[in-house]
Amino acid sequence: MIAFRNTIILVVVISLFTFIALFGRLPALRKTPIGFSHRLLCIYIPNAFRRVDTRYTGGRMNAGLARLTNYLFHQKNPLVLLLFLTLLTGSALLFLRAALPHLDSTKIIPIPFVLLAPYTFTYLCVTSKTDYLNPVNHASAMRQYPYDHILFRPDNLCRTCNFVKPARSKHCSLCGVCVARCDHHCAWINNCVGRHNYRYFLLLLFSIGIVELYGAYLSWSVLSPHLHLGHSSYGWFEKQYWAELGNAFVFAMSIGGISVAGVGLLAITTMPLPFALFAYHLYLIWAGMTTNESAKWSDWRDDMADGVAWIGKRSVVEAHNKERKARQLRNRNRMSGLAGPVSDSEEPEEEYVPWPKHSDQILVSTTDGKAPTGQEQLWERCTSLDMVDNIYDLGFWDNFVAVMSGK
Ligand SMILES: [Zn+2]
Ligand SMILES: [Zn+2]
Repeated sequence: MIAFRNTIILVVVISLFTFIALFGRLPALRKTPIGFSHRLLCIYIPNAFRRVDTRYTGGRMNAGLARLTNYLFHQKNPLVLLLFLTLLTGSALLFLRAALPHLDSTKIIPIPFVLLAPYTFTYLCVTSKTDYLNPVNHASAMRQYPYDHILFRPDNLCRTCNFVKPARSKHCSLCGVCVARCDHHCAWINNCVGRHNYRYFLLLLFSIGIVELYGAYLSWSVLSPHLHLGHSSYGWFEKQYWAELGNAFVFAMSIGGISVAGVGLLAITTMPLPFALFAYHLYLIWAGMTTNESAKWSDWRDDMADGVAWIGKRSVVEAHNKERKARQLRNRNRMSGLAGPVSDSEEPEEEYVPWPKHSDQILVSTTDGKAPTGQEQLWERCTSLDMVDNIYDLGFWDNFVAVMSGK
């Protein structure tokens, strides 16, 4: 019985830590207990440990820990991937060996399909390098998405890759390259989730959820004959009913052992994770943004709440800037006595990218909370994201089709 209690505690702790690790950094959960737990585990506790170590060992333990943390979190490594594959393979083997003799063929037939799916999508996610940008595919990446001049601007240079960052791309320090339509770097697949492998990532999440759901169902179908539920003489609201239910549950656990009951319990407690993550990505698709972009939108929301965000018409602001430059050039020519054409040849010409949705908006944030100096009449204070167009959002269905076709 103690072994089962420990198994349950272990399973719950694993599930909780996985949940916090996966969801804690999401901007939407920043101000929730999940976000706080993530900060507690990743910032507050390590900081306290650092202070204690500096005081008592001169920081020796910290140096070792920093090397380990650097390897775990700041270098590309397959540890999470190996842990996931070990857990999946180990649980499946343990479960099937014990449960197969008790299952009829209709329940056995789906097993190979359900079980092979996560391996297939993991393989496709891990090996995908199509989104890595290089000087050869850079030109075509520049023609995939237009700049929205809000989250992505054409003057953003990647100093590592030495080219202008295409719209919606991001440089990943772990992969060491700029990634097309970068969603996020995923430790789980030890790779970046980008334009082409995003669909495999979604299918991976979904298939893990399904494998857990089916595993929990099989575990239940093996154990349920031993669970004598529904025959209680007590009502739902009586304490004895729940005590009986608890006893029946523990009895079934003792019959199923770790291989059937333990694995089933692990499946059922961790199942919300892939499904919740899958649902979160469906929400992102609905909103027409990547995880990277959701963080950028969240930063803009903070700036709007602080009252330092300003919105203007791009065509008007650019015409104003062009006119000002021309005036400065004319004045300089007059001072030096030269006669020369008024030119703004330093301005890089932005390549035209055909795209169904257009916007003439431009957004800036100022450090002092005042409208940009000398252009006060061109800007309006932006107080809500509702005032801003997201040109990458083409509607749920079109966004979904684009994601599933790798566009
Ligand atoms: Zn780069
Ligand atoms: Zn990466």
